[in-house]
Amino acid sequence: MTTAVGELDLLLTDHHVHSTWSDDAVSSPMENLVAARDTGLASIRMVDHVRTTTTWVPGFLAEVAALPRIDGLEVLTGVEAKILDASGRLDVPDDLVVGPGGVDRILIADHQFPGPDGPWSPRRTLEEMATGLTGQDALDILVTATVRAMGRVGRGQLAHLFSLLPKIGLHESALCDDHLAAIADAAVRSGTTVEVNEKWRCPGPRVVLALAAAGVPLVGSTDSHECSTVGRYSWVSDAASATRLVGTR
Ligand SMILES: [Zn+2]
Ligand SMILES: [Zn+2]
Repeated sequence: MTTAVGELDLLLTDHHVHSTWSDDAVSSPMENLVAARDTGLASIRMVDHVRTTTTWVPGFLAEVAALPRIDGLEVLTGVEAKILDASGRLDVPDDLVVGPGGVDRILIADHQFPGPDGPWSPRRTLEEMATGLTGQDALDILVTATVRAMGRVGRGQLAHLFSLLPKIGLHESALCDDHLAAIADAAVRSGTTVEVNEKWRCPGPRVVLALAAAGVPLVGSTDSHECSTVGRYSWVSDAASATRLVGTR
């Protein structure tokens, strides 16, 4: 079976690795680099959490740029930001540079539900769903906000796509084919990559196959917060096998 992405490619990439630049991670960029080398990765993306108030991105980029080069290991950068609202606005600093001289990509994250008036916690979302918002409405809003975020960013990567759903009592099986087509079309149009995420075990096989069939570039992601898990896949490896995303290039 020929697909846009091979199993080998997925498992040799880890495009979502946090360092001590994030509040909740414990390893330095250097420790993550060594772990990526020791695991035999071909590509690592170093990523940390930002908000609109974040000021340290230049320091983070300088530290990554100063890391020693390792033959055969590509080092990329990014920041991870939540979708703030239904318009697809992202929680990034106004002066964030994306592209040459800045971060390579923005990871677009569903940490909260993108409500019409700003981010809703899972609890708030469940309350809205108890008082009139249907599951399909919620999925429509989430998918539309994600599509809009991709259009805004240009160089995006969908982080743990649909990890929010279980937190609001929904499952990927409730997504209709139009939802998947909308995500796939926007990703292809905007050059957005999509992670297959080990930590959150998402997106599932149906979504992965739909995206791969549409030509969306897929990457592996551990969402590591400490270096011992960098590049180490179990669920992603099984998912890649199950969906027969085996490279034939
Ligand atoms: Zn995240
Ligand atoms: Zn993350």
